Amino acid sequence: MYLVSSCLAGIPCRYDGKSCTNPKIAELVKQGKAIPVCPELLAGLPVPRPCCEIVVDKSGKKKVMSANGEDLTKEFDNGAREALRIASENGIKKAVLKSKSPSCGCGCIYDGTFSGRVIPGNGKAAQLLLENGIEVLTENEADMLKVFG
Ligand code: SF4
Repeated sequence: MYLVSSCLAGIPCRYDGKSCTNPKIAELVKQGKAIPVCPELLAGLPVPRPCCEIVVDKSGKKKVMSANGEDLTKEFDNGAREALRIASENGIKKAVLKSKSPSCGCGCIYDGTFSGRVIPGNGKAAQLLLENGIEVLTENEADMLKVFG
């Protein structure tokens, strides 16, 4: 069983009200072999919602800020915890999550300037899953490694 980002499974839960469907992941969910989660919806955030990125403040602390200047760190941390709870309750050891997202990104994320640039780093949910021993791949890595055939 995999944990997968809901937007990859075809659910229109992105900040812009769209999905980014990966047909193999959507099929896996249909077959009951993957559980879709959207940490940001689990945190109670709406669709659509302002675009968010992880920024580092002057004291070096990481925060999740929306493009209109709202600090949503608490919500993103709550969503990450909910995603971990679902993974743990279902004995899940592998996740395939949407690249670059401030929640789901793994390995690289947007740099906090809302300019489209990426830097090394993990989204809040991906980081918490990794810290709890869950393997996390992006959809690109899963495709490249032919994880789903
Ligand atoms: S939080 Fe994750 S699952 Fe939800 S829309 Fe963003 S990338 Fe997709």
